[in-house]
Amino acid sequence: MSSNSSLHIVIFPFMSKGHIIPMLNLTRLLLLRHGITVTIFTTRANSPFIRQSLSVQHPINIVELEFPADIPELPPGVESTDRLPSMSLFVPFANATKLMQSDFERVLENLSESSGVSCIISDGFFGWTQQSAEKLGIPRLVFYGMNNYVMTICRVLALDRSHLKLGPDESFTVPGFPSVKLTKNDFDPEFNEPEPKGPHIEFVMEVAIATSKSQGLLVNSFSELEPAYLDYWNREFCPKAWCVGPLCLAEPPKVHRDQKPEWIKFLDLKSAEDRSVLYVAFGSQAEISEEQLREIAVGLERSEVCFLWVVRSKVEGLEERVEGRGLVVREWVDQVEILRHESVKGFMSHCGWNSTMESICASVPILAWPMMAEQPLNARMVADELGVGLRIVANNGSVRGFVGSEIVEKMVRELMEGEEGKEARKKVKDIGEAATEAMEGGSSWRTLDQLIDETCRKKNP
Ligand code: UDP
Repeated sequence: MSSNSSLHIVIFPFMSKGHIIPMLNLTRLLLLRHGITVTIFTTRANSPFIRQSLSVQHPINIVELEFPADIPELPPGVESTDRLPSMSLFVPFANATKLMQSDFERVLENLSESSGVSCIISDGFFGWTQQSAEKLGIPRLVFYGMNNYVMTICRVLALDRSHLKLGPDESFTVPGFPSVKLTKNDFDPEFNEPEPKGPHIEFVMEVAIATSKSQGLLVNSFSELEPAYLDYWNREFCPKAWCVGPLCLAEPPKVHRDQKPEWIKFLDLKSAEDRSVLYVAFGSQAEISEEQLREIAVGLERSEVCFLWVVRSKVEGLEERVEGRGLVVREWVDQVEILRHESVKGFMSHCGWNSTMESICASVPILAWPMMAEQPLNARMVADELGVGLRIVANNGSVRGFVGSEIVEKMVRELMEGEEGKEARKKVKDIGEAATEAMEGGSSWRTLDQLIDETCRKKNP
């Protein structure tokens, strides 16, 4: 491969932790492995998180744009979806970013004139950057953070809508994929309308159209994980999908620190006692009712397993009742470090795609409890397709709804001590090893090389 030192890539992640984290890992790969110059665009309030994640190891150019002020629906100062008071404000938040277009283009034009820009890797949610890229004649690649299974199934079902006449929990098969059995409850309600409309649908359509005009899709997955879906997408749809992950494997191991956080000390202790720990976390933005949190607490308590629960809300009295066996943490944790800890043997997860990849890469089986967006489909993939985890279902047998403490207790025990848990543990180990191979000289490594060659060098021969 020819030298990369003349290449300059602009990275623009959407302002959500679940989007920023994998794109920072991608940045690490471009900087370290490929020697490419990278400029990251973000807003002022998101900049410290990015600097902190990267600066120790790499000098990095960061452009801070102003987040639009005075948006009536948005509380002032909120520049990241995990700080929104409710995810119902997601669409106004995402639409507000369109007001950054002129600033983005001004800086991009200056960069382009001074040092040249080989390519923009933009978050898919910034559909408007397609226009900016076209104006300046720069190739645009899109990053969404979804896998091929979800992208392909959603696209197939957007074209074939015959399942819409079924009841919410009636099972149906996805055309072209006879083994994939879903229900309408695997999708957020607005996608099950006969004539989908409203601001969320408009947003999804807008970004999908912009993506279809881009030069390619970067997917945080590896081709051996889901070959049928990757092949189908690349045969039937566009733009071309390139699997360059799992990106969490680009995250460096934790260096030795003077002061370990209390949750790592807790895990060390459990390890010394030869006890396995269930890690419980539902991502950076799940909204869980107080009633549901109480049932989780009771289920964990009764399961008698050791657990580490990262949760933003307060869970009254739990820690006192399970002293020494369970720890509840309200701060931001390093999830990858937790999953890589030798004592962690299970993950009760909302199945955000980053969490799912991180768990698989750490060979930790998953107890899938999806909450929203594409998480129910990820959970199907985890439990039905890959067999790397078990599935929580609601009291009424649906994939969506209230889950009582007795179900939590039973499933936690099954994952940590049961036969099904053992099976999932075996599978996740094999798939975790395949993930490492893909990133260390294997398919994802080669794909990134090829993508850089095909996309960036067209402009910079
Ligand atoms: N995360 C973390 N510490 C926390 C909460 C979340 O490191 O306290 C990370 C987690 O490891 C993952 C990302 O935040 O990389 C969350 O992304 P995911 O797709 O799993 O879920 P989302 O938060 O987008 O729903």
